[in-house]
Amino acid sequence: APVHVSHATPSSEARKPAGKGDTILEVKNLTKEFKLRGALGKSSQFKAVDDVSFTVKRGSTMAIVGESGSGKSTVAQMALSLLAPTEGSILFDGVEVNTLKGKALFDFRRRVQPIFQDPYGSLDPMFNIYRTIEEPLKIHKIGDSKSREKKVRELLDQVSMPAATMHRYPNELSGGQRQRIAIARALALNPDVIICDEAVSALDVLVQAQVLNLLNELQEDLGLTYLFITHDLAVVRQIADQVCVMQNGRIVEAASTDEVFNNPKQTYTQDLLNAIP
Ligand code: ADP
Ligand code: MG
Repeated sequence: APVHVSHATPSSEARKPAGKGDTILEVKNLTKEFKLRGALGKSSQFKAVDDVSFTVKRGSTMAIVGESGSGKSTVAQMALSLLAPTEGSILFDGVEVNTLKGKALFDFRRRVQPIFQDPYGSLDPMFNIYRTIEEPLKIHKIGDSKSREKKVRELLDQVSMPAATMHRYPNELSGGQRQRIAIARALALNPDVIICDEAVSALDVLVQAQVLNLLNELQEDLGLTYLFITHDLAVVRQIADQVCVMQNGRIVEAASTDEVFNNPKQTYTQDLLNAIP
């Protein structure tokens, strides 16, 4: 049976000022069905995400792990308000994400930032690095060009990239460097949450560890919350506090990272663990 993690916040706590440890993301009974077109005009429904629930505490990292096709990216797309759920809800800071419009959606797009897999959809190849990082500041009308340049320099420094990188193009950088730029761009708007969908999956293990270290440091410094999606449990161990294991659209195991590694309850989780080299 699917396991549901629920850390319901008592209403008295909900009135406290927002701080580390409060629930920032709450996913409730989330379901996504895709209509599949078959032969002879017959269509069928397919549940890519099936009754998924979990909560994420501010300042923590929740990993969603599972093999390819288990529904992880579909959860990410819904959490980013890029895809509407068939059923269920996602609350960001207590507000339903799916119904956001206008200014509220614009504000949500500032506070919740994505980082995708390199090189697919991570950076625009036609934008140099300066423009890549400046773009979100321009869209959100933050500062004048001079203060934006200062901010771009700060952000490059924050991700340990030399300032001269700003004149270069994504194809002139390594995969690890490109993901540092993707992180800098995600940080430009001082987000609360970063949703990483296979953000380190294209990198070799050493560079992976460096980027994960950077993400860990930034979390410490900035109080960021991560929803960290990966097919790789070895990556989960380096970054996550909590883990949801997904299989065929459902959460089959949900626990702290330590519990998942030391005492996995499901055969499927054990299989994922055995797959770690
Ligand atoms: P994961 O990220 O875990 O690899 P996805 O969320 O991308 O999995 O996909 C879950 C399932 O939903 C897969 O079987 C995939 O083929 C299917 N799927 C994803 N997006 C669509 C779509 N837009 N239309 C139809 N099926 C889709
Ligand atoms: Mg995916």
